[in-house]
Amino acid sequence: MDKKLVRVSAALIVKNKSFLAALRPVNKKLGGFWELPGGKVEPNEDPKDTCIREIREELNCNIKVNDKITVCTFDYPDFILQMDVFECELIKDNYPSLIEHSALQWVNAQNIFDFKWVPADRDFLPLIKEKYLL
Ligand code: C5P
Repeated sequence: MDKKLVRVSAALIVKNKSFLAALRPVNKKLGGFWELPGGKVEPNEDPKDTCIREIREELNCNIKVNDKITVCTFDYPDFILQMDVFECELIKDNYPSLIEHSALQWVNAQNIFDFKWVPADRDFLPLIKEKYLL
């Protein structure tokens, strides 16, 4: 049987040559791995709006969504991921908080490869480093 295609939007929240990474909790799938925060696109939802909604739900803060950086596809054992990654910024006076994740961390060019990233995100980290962190 064909694997299900799951559409996800992820936010690269950029600030001062660094971006925000979030640690998935151990009780969730891929627990203990770091990811760009985001989540599943709902039926008829604009993927940019998914980003805004998911960041509100997961980090309790408001972002502005800018350009799409890449579309990443990844063949997970139980589904095929198709993920739009957007460059985002925190709206003034918004600070992320821990709602659904175990930890948050600002990532820079020096420490980007020190984290245990979810497999899909690992693929486009070199692009992010080159474009946003250097
Ligand atoms: O966060 P949520 O579990 O809803 O995301 C759906 C799936 O998308 C996760 O199981 C994970 O495999 C994948 N994902 C990812 N990279 C991200 C965000 C989500 O691979 N940055």
